[in-house]
Amino acid sequence: MKDHETFPLIPIKKGQGVWLEDFDGNRYLDAISSWWVNLFGHANPAINAALKDQLDTLEQVIFAGFTHEAAVELAEKLVAITPKGLSRCFYADNGSSAIEVALKMSFHYWRNHGQTQKTKFITLENSYHGETLGALAVGNVQLYKETYAPLLMDVITVPSPDCYHRDPGESWADYSTRRFALMEQALQQHSDTVCAVIIEPLVQCAGNMRMYDPVYLELLRAACDKYNVHLIADEIAVGFGRTGTLFACEQAAISPDFMCLSKGLTGGYLPLSAVLTTDQVYQAFYADYQAMSAFLHSHSYTGNALACRAGLATIDIFQQHGIIEKNKSLAAIMAKATMRFHDHPHVSEVRQTGMMLAIEMVKNKHTREPYPWQERRGLKVYQYALSKGVLLRPLGNVIYFMPPYIVTEEELRLIAEVAWQGIQQAVKD
Ligand SMILES: *Cc1c(COP(=O)(O)O)cnc(C)c1O
Repeated sequence: MKDHETFPLIPIKKGQGVWLEDFDGNRYLDAISSWWVNLFGHANPAINAALKDQLDTLEQVIFAGFTHEAAVELAEKLVAITPKGLSRCFYADNGSSAIEVALKMSFHYWRNHGQTQKTKFITLENSYHGETLGALAVGNVQLYKETYAPLLMDVITVPSPDCYHRDPGESWADYSTRRFALMEQALQQHSDTVCAVIIEPLVQCAGNMRMYDPVYLELLRAACDKYNVHLIADEIAVGFGRTGTLFACEQAAISPDFMCLSKGLTGGYLPLSAVLTTDQVYQAFYADYQAMSAFLHSHSYTGNALACRAGLATIDIFQQHGIIEKNKSLAAIMAKATMRFHDHPHVSEVRQTGMMLAIEMVKNKHTREPYPWQERRGLKVYQYALSKGVLLRPLGNVIYFMPPYIVTEEELRLIAEVAWQGIQQAVKD
C-alpha cells in the first residue's frame, strides 16, 4: 500500500480485446492476460452473447440436490477434452479451492480403502498451488509461504526438475530425467504414508516461469502407479492451451488421477474451477448414506451457472476456430520477436513453452548471479512498460509474456520492443 503512494493503482474503465483503457484514456496491452486468466480478449463478443443469454435464463442455483444445464454440459465437455480416464467432474469456485478438493479427495480415497496411514503429500521445490492454507502447504514459493509456516501441514518436498539449472550443453530431457531420480527416491522411501504427488505440469509459473521436459511427467506417472500413489496435475495456469497443447499432460501422453482447472476455464470472465478425476476415485465414495463415506466439500457458488456458461463459450471458441493450431504460429512469432534477448548482457535465459515466454534478467550473465531482490529491477520494467502502454508484470526479475490468444503479430512485436527498452532502463547503474 505504501508503494501506491508513489505509484497509484490504475483504475480501469473498460476492456476491449487485448487492450485495457483507464479513465484518462490511456491504453494498456494486457500482455499477461490479466494474471493468466484471459484467453480470447476482454469483452469477447461470443462469450458476452452466451452470458447475456444465460443471465436471462438462470444466474445461480443451489448446487446440492439441484443441477442445471450449463453445469452438466460443461462437465461433459471437460470429460471429453481432458486426457482419457478422467470421467468425473467436481466443481469449486477458484483455483486454490480446486487444490483443496484434490488433496482432500485423494486422502479420503485412501481412507475409504482402509489405508489410514496415507496422510502426506509430495510436492516440488519452487511449486505454487494457491494461497489458502492447504494449497499454501503444498506450494514452495517462500515469499507466500514462509510467514504462515507454523500454520501449515508438513509435506515432503522434492528438488525441482527446473531446467534453468541444467549443465551447459545438457538437454532439457536429460536434466529432467536426471532430476527424476530424486522423486523416485522420495516415493520409494515414503509411499506407505503418501496420498499423492502434486505438480504443475511443464511450467512452474508463479515460481518464476521455470520450465521442464515432458519426460518428467511420463516417469512420474509410471512411478505413481508403481508406488500406489495418486498423481495430481495442477493445470490451473498451464491448462487451456498455454503450453502449446490443450492440456500440458498431453505432451507426455499421461492421465493424472486428478486434474485441477481454473483460470482460463471461463476465458477469464468469472471465478470457477473444476477437479477432474477417475471413475475409480468416484467409486470409492459411492455408498449408502449410513456408510458415511461421502465426499463433503461445498462452496456457496459452486458450479455457478454464469461461470459454467462462460466455460462452455470458451471451449466452443477453441473448437470452432482451431486455436491450438493457430497458436503454433503465434508462439513462433513470440520466439522470433525475442531473438535478440538471448545475447543481452543482463539476460541469462530466454525460455519458452508454447504461449508462455520468459526472460530472466540477471546481474551477471556468465555466473548467472541474480540482482539483489531489494533493488526491485523487475518493478522498473513494469513501470517503464506501463508508461509505454504495455502491461507486463514481472515475477521478481523474470519478465514474461503470456498474452491472450487473439494477440496479433504487430502487438507481439510491440510487447517485445517495450520489454527490451524496459530492461535497458532497469539494468542502468
Ligand atoms: C493461480 C494458481 C492457483 C490458484 O488459483 P486461484 O484461483 O488464484 O486461487 C493454483 N495453482 C496454480 C498453478 C496457479 O497458477
